[in-house]
Amino acid sequence: MKDLFGREINYMRISVTDLCNLRCRYCMPASGVQKMRHDDIMSEEEIITVIEAASELGINKIRFTGGEPLVKKNIVSICRRASRISGIDEVCLTTNGILLPPIADELRDAGVSRINISLDTLKPERYSYITRGGVLREAMQGIDAAIKAGFRVKLNTVLIGGFNDDEISDLAGLTLSMDIDIRFIELMPMLEGFSEGKFIASQKILDTLQEVEALGTDGVAKMFRLKGARGSIGFISPVSRAFCANCNRIRLTADGYIKPCLHSDTEIFVRHKTREELKSLIINAIQAKPESHTLNLYHHSQSLRTMNRIGG
Ligand code: SAM
Ligand code: SF4
Repeated sequence: MKDLFGREINYMRISVTDLCNLRCRYCMPASGVQKMRHDDIMSEEEIITVIEAASELGINKIRFTGGEPLVKKNIVSICRRASRISGIDEVCLTTNGILLPPIADELRDAGVSRINISLDTLKPERYSYITRGGVLREAMQGIDAAIKAGFRVKLNTVLIGGFNDDEISDLAGLTLSMDIDIRFIELMPMLEGFSEGKFIASQKILDTLQEVEALGTDGVAKMFRLKGARGSIGFISPVSRAFCANCNRIRLTADGYIKPCLHSDTEIFVRHKTREELKSLIINAIQAKPESHTLNLYHHSQSLRTMNRIGG
């Protein structure tokens, strides 16, 4: 359905857990997260019911995220059931990839059509630093497993000044040798220490890439390809180039709130409702989408949650 600004809202991102096996410095506090009580988390049944209600309102694309969606024990079953719901055309996942190797094939069989894997660096010591202890080799094994299972993998790389700005051409260069796409995402100021000083505008990076051809836009990303490359490069600029005019999504948090906008503090509780109540709450959420978010370099997100509790 359309929101009040004429945008067609057809995409729901669902955080199935706020827990994670990593602790990325720009996403989660060092202390990690306080584990929620089992009863405070949406059950598989509840998630499926929300998707069914949303599909009746025109949502046809679902992305499971987190926290880390693969730490959720029943993620394969959730994906399988979601992909069978009438009206749902695409079920996707965003993951750090570490837990992918044993279940990549199962996810493919369960109807997941695309996997995005987050990777901010190709240097093991930097990976360990930014994720607070992650092992790069394990993330790379996750990428390989997804490709072997037949997925077209997209990498998500957050641009962080003074951290990975010297690796952009190496990361972009992966599209020359592998069948993958990569999206560079501007750092959103959500956590102390990861704001102005670490921000790099995507345009600044784009200016440094040699021999790129423009491919137009894909949703909220501006797309390019290196000459001779097998995959595309995209730039997502939530800070420097507010992309809200093309926003097509709502978000569901693991504790059962629909967020009309990533950066707003508006949240609508959707647990313990009948199907009809759910549908009208989803309509309210779509109608509550602001025209644009107010996030910029100096004005932090108004969301009351850190990214792992929203779903990125
Ligand atoms: N754990 C999964 C992963 O890392 O892909 C899914 C959840 S994570 C919150 C989703 C995406 O949000 C990741 O690509 C991550 O890099 C991105 N993200 C987290 N905090 C961010 C921030 N402050 N600015 C920009 N992107 C951020
Ligand atoms: Fe975990 Fe993803 Fe956040 Fe990193 S970005 S801490 S992998 S939820």
